[in-house]
Amino acid sequence: MDYTVLNQCINYLQTVSSTIVTTYTAKRELSSFHLHKESHSEIKEVILPQEVTPTYSKIDIDTLLKKKLGEHLVKFANIMEQSFKKEDLSIFYQNIHTLTTYPKKMTLKKQLFSVYTAAYYDSGKNSITVDIDEIENTLSHELLHMASSILPTKESNVEYCGFSQTFPNKSIADGINEGYTEILNNRYFCHDEGLADSYRYNMDVALNLEKIIGQEKMESLYLHADLFGLVKGLKKYATEDEIMEFIASSDYLYHHLDDGKINNNKDRLIRKCLKQVNKFLITSFSHKMNKLSNEGKITVEEETKKIAEFICYIKPNVKSENKIYQVMSEKEIDSLLNIVFIPPISNEQSIKRSI
Ligand SMILES: [Zn+2]
Repeated sequence: MDYTVLNQCINYLQTVSSTIVTTYTAKRELSSFHLHKESHSEIKEVILPQEVTPTYSKIDIDTLLKKKLGEHLVKFANIMEQSFKKEDLSIFYQNIHTLTTYPKKMTLKKQLFSVYTAAYYDSGKNSITVDIDEIENTLSHELLHMASSILPTKESNVEYCGFSQTFPNKSIADGINEGYTEILNNRYFCHDEGLADSYRYNMDVALNLEKIIGQEKMESLYLHADLFGLVKGLKKYATEDEIMEFIASSDYLYHHLDDGKINNNKDRLIRKCLKQVNKFLITSFSHKMNKLSNEGKITVEEETKKIAEFICYIKPNVKSENKIYQVMSEKEIDSLLNIVFIPPISNEQSIKRSI
């Protein structure tokens, strides 16, 4: 496999899109993107202060049943305990016992607005407000936010929720967090049909990211609200700048893919971000497979097959509210696959290769 050519091909795709964006994108759009990008230098490591060290280490069914929606909480708690390791549930045990739920009739809101928030989790109050008619579709998603949130204290000005970190005037990694929350919701609880396109896109991204990090590790990092650990895990296969650019791009897409009005500049920026995300995922996954092959953990044939499968799994088209974006043309995918399927010429070459 000639990794140099694979890399050149990916770099070429990247350069073409960068040139277009640099030349034509209006300052306003770029500054919006940079705002997202700059904020990532502040990713914080979670250090639990002594006073918020969990006091619960198992489920108290009686306490849960006394709460509104108690039976739903017990059902959720049982699945959490069956699905994850006990050491990954300390945030969950702590928060579910102090959680408040507010089931509400939202019939009027539903009739007046085509899009309304049927449920939301407030980490400041550790509470969930939910439309009583939408409990089955929405409650488990919000409970996953609860199970992965370190509640803000007076001393800390950062809110940690799954992979996202919220500062007083900005937030980081919302896209990956929402995507992965819905992946776990689908995997263990329920399938929500009514998701926005930006959610669906970020689910695909999060699922591909999980293939790089590993399912067990990724679930554990999520339940510990450990974005810092996620970045650390990715650093084995990508530089910090590449990781930050990837997080910034997925955030931009999470916030703007479903925008009603998309002018030419925003359209170009969306295309740039889509390409950046794909490039990051393909190169990081290839790095991982290359490392495993060099360490003798997989054969060169397995490495080739896994990279080819991964490229095939990356969606070439992304649907948004108003249009379908072509991220990789069939020709581009074909040329990537052709490169992957070229067998290595000699052992010496396979040792020297780098990507
Ligand atoms: Zn959410």
